Amino acid sequence: MAPAMPIKADQCPTNSRSRRQLLPVLPASLTIVYAAEGEAPAGAAAAIWSATGLDWPSVSASAAFKGKQGRALDIVGQGAGRLIVPGKGKPDDKAPLNARTDRGGSLFGKIAAARAESVAVIVDEPGATPAAIAELAAGLRLRHYKFDKYKTARPDEPAGDITITLHVADPAATDTAIADRGAVVEGTLLARDLINEPANVLGPVEFAAKAAELSALGVDVEILEPEQLEKLGMGSLLCVAQGSDRPARLVVMQWRGGEAGAAPLAFVGKGVVFDTGGISIKPAASMEEMKGDMGGAAAVTGLMRALAGRKAPVNAVGVIGPVENMPSGNAVRPGDIVTAMSGTTIEVINTDAEGRLVLADALWYTQDRFKPRFMINLATLTGAIIVALGHEHAGLFSNNDELAIQLLNAGLTANEKLWRMPLSPAYDKLIESKFADIRNSVGRPAGSITAAQFLQRFVNNVPGRISTSLAPPLAPAPPRSMPPGPPASASRCSIG
Ligand code: MN
Ligand code: ZN
Repeated sequence: MAPAMPIKADQCPTNSRSRRQLLPVLPASLTIVYAAEGEAPAGAAAAIWSATGLDWPSVSASAAFKGKQGRALDIVGQGAGRLIVPGKGKPDDKAPLNARTDRGGSLFGKIAAARAESVAVIVDEPGATPAAIAELAAGLRLRHYKFDKYKTARPDEPAGDITITLHVADPAATDTAIADRGAVVEGTLLARDLINEPANVLGPVEFAAKAAELSALGVDVEILEPEQLEKLGMGSLLCVAQGSDRPARLVVMQWRGGEAGAAPLAFVGKGVVFDTGGISIKPAASMEEMKGDMGGAAAVTGLMRALAGRKAPVNAVGVIGPVENMPSGNAVRPGDIVTAMSGTTIEVINTDAEGRLVLADALWYTQDRFKPRFMINLATLTGAIIVALGHEHAGLFSNNDELAIQLLNAGLTANEKLWRMPLSPAYDKLIESKFADIRNSVGRPAGSITAAQFLQRFVNNVPGRISTSLAPPLAPAPPRSMPPGPPASASRCSIG
């Protein structure tokens, strides 16, 4: 179990008349007050600083602390207990909200290093709106996350529970903002847990059961088993699972927060719980990372968690097809021809290009059943996109310019950047097969584009029905609010 970290908002101790008489020293093992560039701590922070009995100009000068972002003064053993004064940057700081999330992340780094158990953070300055403080709280929680449930605790290790109290000007409004943003954080943390969980624990059946837990929040969850998938004609999805002892599932999650009958937004995620490559087996190096080949499905599940947690006023459907890609005597072979639910026949050239085989049926099913306003597909689909973009951007493919621009902007807002890649009839021609309608692998040139062209064949290109294929990199450089490890990259950006 990860240690607990409740965050609550409280009235700033010197901000209200009734509390003005309180001692400025707060009952916390660590107090955080901010100072802007070239300025002493102000407001409630000034009262707390004065309890140290220290002279601000001489202390800050001798520590060469000028209030710059990223720097901090660390004061121990004075009348105010342990005090950390992080720099706030320019006094008229107009940092965007996502910068505040990162600041929350780096603040948690300082708190963890100080090994404090109770922390008071003074954020009562005029620029600290409830929304800005909610981002700070989100950053604290995202950075606090760690996946250490399989590590035996050392006997000398502290329990690690931390209580953080944010002392703010308007606790009621701040609590509301923190709860709303917190619902999205819960979705991100769920996605991270799913990605980090090893494949021996999280198989297709277990993944589906995890998704089913969302019904407690009002998400309607259906789980389809192989017999039902066979009846639907999902020969493409099922051929990926056939080499594994663990059967496939298709999970349909519906959140109905919008008008009854209004067309939903649809999210489809790649959920290969482990990808060995199948008969076209992968090399051993880094194969353990393939437990994260269900990152798209994890992001979709986290997104549904976030929508339900916020009681979002939209109709949304999330579809994932958890499967395992294994080599065995029953595995699909290169050269095999399968028929997808749409009726398209597919020649399997490379069994490691399995994600698109699963998504082909998941996408077709989703548009056929739900007639969504648009479909967003999230997938760790190709290593080729990492060759093209590295870990700085996730690749974006879209058949709709307007939606593509919205997604690019959402990526900038959430600090999870996307880069649009091309689709065109010339690339589409490349996926034609000698023996079937299409083939699942073309080779190295334009490897991520031909994957997107493949998926494009299964979105039933009716105007207004849009497919977007995202290939989040498996391990991008973590922003400060993220602990090391696989990201739940797309969940934050598709929500933002
Ligand atoms: Mn693969
Ligand atoms: Zn894969």
